[in-house]
Amino acid sequence: MKNLTILGATGTIGVNTLDVVARHPDKFRVVALTGQSQLERLARQCHRFRPKYAVVMTPDKAQALQAMLTGLDTRVMAGIEALEYVAALDEVDSVMAAIVGAAGLRPAMAAARAGKRVLLANKETLVMAGRFFMDAVRQHAATLLPIDSEHNAVFQALPNGYSGDPDSHGVRRVLLTASGGPFRARAIETLRDVTPEEAVAHPNWVMGRKISVDSATMMNKGLEVIEAHWLFDAHPRQIEVVIHPQSIIHSMVEYRDGSVLAQLSNPDMRTPIAHALAYPERVEAGVGWLDLAKIGTLTFESPDYARFPCLRLAYQALAAGDAAPAILNAANEEAVAAFLGHRLPYPGIAATLEAVLDRLSGHAATSLEDLMAADAAARRQARAWIAALQPA
Ligand code: NAD
Ligand code: MG
Repeated sequence: MKNLTILGATGTIGVNTLDVVARHPDKFRVVALTGQSQLERLARQCHRFRPKYAVVMTPDKAQALQAMLTGLDTRVMAGIEALEYVAALDEVDSVMAAIVGAAGLRPAMAAARAGKRVLLANKETLVMAGRFFMDAVRQHAATLLPIDSEHNAVFQALPNGYSGDPDSHGVRRVLLTASGGPFRARAIETLRDVTPEEAVAHPNWVMGRKISVDSATMMNKGLEVIEAHWLFDAHPRQIEVVIHPQSIIHSMVEYRDGSVLAQLSNPDMRTPIAHALAYPERVEAGVGWLDLAKIGTLTFESPDYARFPCLRLAYQALAAGDAAPAILNAANEEAVAAFLGHRLPYPGIAATLEAVLDRLSGHAATSLEDLMAADAAARRQARAWIAALQPA
């Protein structure tokens, strides 16, 4: 029996995780669930899975949730320290880190420092603070299992016991696949008219709104390049992005002898979630079997940086190092929120990132506090830059 904390239980990844957990009551027990604004959903999850703890972000939400949990022994807590607490509980083996954005960093760090099995969906943790997070994983003998479908695929295609240092394992390159999102073939000059509704309508995956916009701009793939760098100790030139619109191959590893190993499955996050939950065993995930004859064709193309400038900016930030990826990530969160709030046109997302990276280059990153400061500075710059675009 594995005891679980699910951070971000009410989100897309959280809901898919509980779907897999519910299929295996003999294998997984839920100890803690956390959420932010969808209290009814969190309350329903508590009634169904009867966790010992439920965490929300504010005392008033905690009070409201408590009132919905009559008859349960669930202890309701509030705030970031409570997230860290349930991520580090002695009785918990595995922590699903599925909060979206920079807000997920502190609880993911707490899980790593407590030596847990960390099932990492929150890619922003590695983008912001990859060095510190990976150090914590090593120092505290935590086990890191990637949930992001591409990184989970790479993990599966790497040799058992892969410990970083691709060269010593005969690994030449990591090939990250990308669907290309909803605007892969749209006329570039019409991108300025893109609405939030069009941007979040992903052709192959149902995801939260922020990551859906990131998929449209391919910032998501840029964040994943940085994520792959830290997870697999791969040099940026060993990480290649290939567009594969069918989203059947979730990524690949190329070896020195010319072999390329791929992981394939239907595009359903329950496959990587089940893989990581049960690792090194395999459990049924509720995902349909792959019908290759029905799929028929798998196609591939190179990404076009003129169409997807965010991808280029991510490689640039990774090469610049220090706080640049944290700055990129924070500016992106602000730009995406402004775009979703109709305060920034779609091409303004990349323009904001470029402007903020330009202004804040050379920010130090010798501690986690430096990175938090860089994150805050980038958010201020991004907001000011976006506000200056508004008609007076
Ligand atoms: P989502 O928006 O559906 O859910 C986000 C969750 O985080 C919710 O439970 C919400 O309550 C919680 N949350 C949001 N802001 C918070 C805050 N400030 N403090 C505490 N909790 C907060 O997002 P999602 O699609 O489930 O994605 C979650 C993470 O997983 C993201 O980092 C995303 O990049 C990553 N991811 C998602 C997918 C996917 O298919 N959805 C795939 C790969 C990686
Ligand atoms: Mg992904």
